[in-house]
Amino acid sequence: MLMPNSDSTSRIVFLGTGTSEGVPRVSCLTNPDSKCVVCPDAINLGSPNRRRNTSILVQRKLSRGRTSNIVIDAGKFFYESAIQWFPKFDARTIDALVITHAHADAVGGFDDLRDWTNNGQESLPIYIRETDLVSVESLFYYLVDRTKQTGGGGVAKLDFEIIDATPFSADGLEMIPLPVEHGRGHEIFGYRFGSVSYISDASAISEDTAALVAGSELLVLDALRPSRTHGTHFTVEEAVEQAHRLGAPRTLLVDATHDIDHIPVNAELAKLRDSEGLDIQYAYDGLDVEINL
Ligand SMILES: [Zn+2]
Ligand SMILES: [Zn+2]
Repeated sequence: MLMPNSDSTSRIVFLGTGTSEGVPRVSCLTNPDSKCVVCPDAINLGSPNRRRNTSILVQRKLSRGRTSNIVIDAGKFFYESAIQWFPKFDARTIDALVITHAHADAVGGFDDLRDWTNNGQESLPIYIRETDLVSVESLFYYLVDRTKQTGGGGVAKLDFEIIDATPFSADGLEMIPLPVEHGRGHEIFGYRFGSVSYISDASAISEDTAALVAGSELLVLDALRPSRTHGTHFTVEEAVEQAHRLGAPRTLLVDATHDIDHIPVNAELAKLRDSEGLDIQYAYDGLDVEINL
């Protein structure tokens, strides 16, 4: 059940809510003929239109005072997310990193993980599919085979734990993989933990996966932009349909492009509360939601 803010429960923090390129787009800032209103706003400190790659922190207060920090995905802008949100939420360690797929907006930040393993913790377990590890190795050969490093800086000490669709434990939290289609024929994972289902990148959700999502209190769902279908992501309209279908009492949308102007789009979506009984809003970077885990 979702809880009002308090110090005693667990929470998820949105480290990023944007698509791969992030928001703002540099070209919208440099093109004098650009009509984009979102990107110029996104450079303002605190604007909800400023979006780094979609990623969350799952933070639990465990017995004996230990705080557990599980991160899902560490993409190209992970460092920028971490410097803003880790101090704010007192996240000192990364106790597990869980990967949805091997696109750059989900794994592009792996090199930056060295700060944690060099300066705070012995090693860092990363839960990843075999096929994604192969892709990571082609991006960061020296992180997967540490004997190949040549610099003196000390690369990250990452422990890759190979997963499949079987549920697994990440720092004591059961993660249930949610296989979804992210473009035709390309299957990646969302995850269910407790009453939260997290699907950051998807263009189709099977009946089997919908059954795994059933009963979630909170659904986090991919919604790239309005109208124009993309092929690898849901549009806002498709996400609304999926939210209806999956039936969670609350849905937060992520993976937004600069086509989403946060405040007016959320005002439009808020109307669905009265007309269709649907609580669906875009999340924003830094949003924290208290949950029971
Ligand atoms: Zn723009
Ligand atoms: Zn992707």
